[in-house]
Amino acid sequence: MKRESNLCVFCGGKIPTSRSLNSNTCCDAHSYELKKNNQLEYARNQAAQRELLRSDEIMHELRSLYNRDCHLSTEHLIKRNFNWVVNKGEITIAGYKAKVLIRYAYCLLNDQTIYIWKLL
Ligand SMILES: [Zn+2]
Repeated sequence: MKRESNLCVFCGGKIPTSRSLNSNTCCDAHSYELKKNNQLEYARNQAAQRELLRSDEIMHELRSLYNRDCHLSTEHLIKRNFNWVVNKGEITIAGYKAKVLIRYAYCLLNDQTIYIWKLL
């Protein structure tokens, strides 16, 4: 068995031949740092996914309260502590640039209102 690379994935330094062939780091400290970074990245990603789901559920609630092609005051979202940062990207719907959540997309308009669309 041979390791994929003989460079440490944390610092880029050479991995000593004394290290286990399964190791992709040059020392235990870098192995620990790498694991910590991976856990941090995982936790951040999980938190972002939860926020995305929460945002989507707010849209779902508003759509069921106010029905169909929703055009609402942003007050409804502000009251629910909506996260304006988290989304999966942008698409164009009926000429509007809409932020994509999970089941819904929305567009924030200049007059402090939003459009909500249900995605297919
Ligand atoms: Zn290293």
